[in-house]
Amino acid sequence: MKEYQIIIVGGGPAGLTAGLYTSRAHLTSLILEAMVPSGQAYNSEKIENYPGFPDGISGPELIERFTAQASKFGVEILPFTKVDNVELVQQKKLLTSGDKQFSAPALIVASGAQWNKLGVPGEDEYAGKGVSYCATCDGSFFKDQKVAVIGGGDTAIEDALYLTRIADQVYVVHRRDQLRAQKVLQSKAFENPRIEFVWNTVLREIRGQETVRNLVLENVKTAEREELAVDGVFLAVGQRPNTDFVRGLVDLDEQGYIMTDENCGTSVAGILAAGDVRQKSLRQISTAVGDGALAASAAERYIEEHVQT
Ligand code: NAP
Repeated sequence: MKEYQIIIVGGGPAGLTAGLYTSRAHLTSLILEAMVPSGQAYNSEKIENYPGFPDGISGPELIERFTAQASKFGVEILPFTKVDNVELVQQKKLLTSGDKQFSAPALIVASGAQWNKLGVPGEDEYAGKGVSYCATCDGSFFKDQKVAVIGGGDTAIEDALYLTRIADQVYVVHRRDQLRAQKVLQSKAFENPRIEFVWNTVLREIRGQETVRNLVLENVKTAEREELAVDGVFLAVGQRPNTDFVRGLVDLDEQGYIMTDENCGTSVAGILAAGDVRQKSLRQISTAVGDGALAASAAERYIEEHVQT
């Protein structure tokens, strides 16, 4: 078993910022990441609301910069290591990932969130065959074709705008007649001639042969059903937090997000939470970065006050 002073779960903006701060504070720090350093920001083609980049920056480039900066100060990053469980052993936090174990007095949970599924017939059957959760990953397969985006949040509208540069026609199917997305994105979408909105409508079924061919849509006001011919469908119906491995250990809200105080402290001393995984009102890179710094400084204080060296 390897021992550290601080372990961070998750290598997105929150986790990488926490790692930058803790390693700069000369604390032995480990970031455990289920894949490679990324986070959902990695899927953004162009990030325009993270300060310091007036012309925008791509998700991969920003994450590369975060990773390089944190690594420069000595944080260890272990990719492809998904944490299964966390236990308290005396004052230490013992993390298990498969047959590996890691231990530290302080833990920062920055494990983010993952895309929700809709659970409609055809969704699993056509996953990767026209059903996607990531426009920037899969959009290029739909050159000059027709696609639909389901949802009305920031992700759905960003996806729709991105897809207009590849696809011939983009339908945005939303269950209400008003979008949840930021106004600046809404304006861009309303002005885009390639986007057609299908309001008050939900997806009931995805049909196809080898790949997706049709969506069965239902108007929630009239209960009328219609088929929409598309080659691909992008589901952007929100996300759920990656908190299974701390369920029962720290307090979660009804949706599974970690409840914290204003310094990112959880219900367990020495366990902090940062970024999209915690209950908060604004989930963006800028707020994840702020959380990472706060959690790192709280973890440092916890070690100073509770751990004998
Ligand atoms: P979100 O804000 O939760 O929006 C999910 C959308 O899906 C909503 O429009 C919702 O409809 C719809 N929806 C949910 N369940 C549905 C169902 N069962 N059937 C049909 N529609 C359903 O999720 P998100 O857009 O992925 O964004 C997640 C977080 O990341 C947000 O905090 C967002 O601000 C942030 N984000 C920020 C940026 C940025 O700043 N550039 C980019 C992407 C994401 P209702 O509106 O009716 O609830």
